[in-house]
Amino acid sequence: MLEMRPNCECCDKDLPPDSTEAMICTFECTFCTDCVTGVLKNKCPNCGGEFATRPRRPLEKLANNPASTRRVLKPGGCKQAA
Ligand SMILES: [Zn+2]
Ligand SMILES: [Zn+2]
Repeated sequence: MLEMRPNCECCDKDLPPDSTEAMICTFECTFCTDCVTGVLKNKCPNCGGEFATRPRRPLEKLANNPASTRRVLKPGGCKQAA
């Protein structure tokens, strides 16, 4: 099951479970669409993998399968790829 992390690792933007802006890689590194299409150029800075849109979890499922509240943030944020 997906963790559904609550924020973008780059800019700390809130990405709630019903967000349409959350993107994840295969390791579930989680970023917002702005960072993915901007500074990250569609490549995960942690593992080099590609991104997919994170599916939204229906509200009725969240009651028993709550989203993660542990915020993951890259120290120093994301650098522009060279
Ligand atoms: Zn971001
Ligand atoms: Zn990754």
